[in-house]
Amino acid sequence: MDGSNPLEDLIRAQIAADGPMDIGTFMNIALAHPQYGYYMTRDPFGVTGDFITAPEISQMFGELIGAWVADIWAQMGRPARFIWLECGPGRGTLMADALRATRRIAGFHQAAQIVLMEMSPVLQEKQRATLAGYGPVSWIAGLDDLDDLVIGASGCPVICIANEFLDALPVRQFVKQGAAWHERVVGIADGVLAFGLSPPVAPPVRADNGDLADGVYEIAPARNAFVRQLAALVAGRGGAALLVDYGYERSAAGDTLQAVKDHEFINPLEQVGLADITSHVDFQAIAQAGNLCAVHGPRTQGDFLRALGIGVRAEMLRRQGGSDAIEGAMARLCDEAGMGQLFKVLALTQDDDIVVAGF
Ligand code: SAH
Repeated sequence: MDGSNPLEDLIRAQIAADGPMDIGTFMNIALAHPQYGYYMTRDPFGVTGDFITAPEISQMFGELIGAWVADIWAQMGRPARFIWLECGPGRGTLMADALRATRRIAGFHQAAQIVLMEMSPVLQEKQRATLAGYGPVSWIAGLDDLDDLVIGASGCPVICIANEFLDALPVRQFVKQGAAWHERVVGIADGVLAFGLSPPVAPPVRADNGDLADGVYEIAPARNAFVRQLAALVAGRGGAALLVDYGYERSAAGDTLQAVKDHEFINPLEQVGLADITSHVDFQAIAQAGNLCAVHGPRTQGDFLRALGIGVRAEMLRRQGGSDAIEGAMARLCDEAGMGQLFKVLALTQDDDIVVAGF
């Protein structure tokens, strides 16, 4: 390393002062450092960016999720006000497609108070531009801020959507070697950032604790805490949450930390702050964290979108003059070779009175 990366310099200085840092701390700095963090400085999406997400692949994704939210609202008895919260909205594409697709549903937009949870000032600006024309939008930094929110919204139901948000929340890794556990940490070896192991620590608390084989085990306290808080909101106020992300259905061993730059995987310790760093979501842990609510799924994204009628929507778009690209987009979203199998969908509702579409 030539030392020209200010965020890496900062991490090195912190390691020099305090010793090796856990991977969650490292991820948090790499993604969210106010000045140099990956999301704070750029728009990472699309062909010219680092990665492409489902709403950026096709308008159908946001349209179907819009219909899903409207259906939940209708089943709740069409409350006159509800908070429509999106966490980690990226460019605002999903929300824009969802709003456009639902604009003819009587009373729905009037009832919706659009709230975006977004930490990046760059992306907030994008979202503001994308959603101009759809009425007032508010931004929050965290779920705690919902209580202070705007015009008559206190205590009203919340319907939350989040696509590829949970994967960005920090994960920590523990390594089991025989009877001993160590935390995987980031230190410096031979002058470069390197993974290492902490001295022995207590075993991490996980959904699958028991007789575990040797290997790497991930826990995501920040992710679990977020889902727990979201579930408390939905359980308390009424509403629902729809969480979509790449991940696995049953807690298991495995190192899923990944960094992506220019659509390629790279070493997470290289190009700090210039690459997206995420990990796969443990949906068993998420389901457990959400258990104040009724939990639906996880289901694969392919099954979910097909159940919501993506085939019919694609056919309609094609008849309206859409191109063959629609077929390709549907395949990419739904097929096993694309995102259909790796991506999972989990929904939370206040209770089982609501029939959750797509599950
Ligand atoms: N949902 C979008 C973007 C996914 S990328 C899409 O599907 O295209 C992750 C998004 O979450 C980005 O908007 C990023 O800035 C935001 N984000 C990541 N961590 C966050 C945090 N802790 N608080 C708020 N927003 C966060």
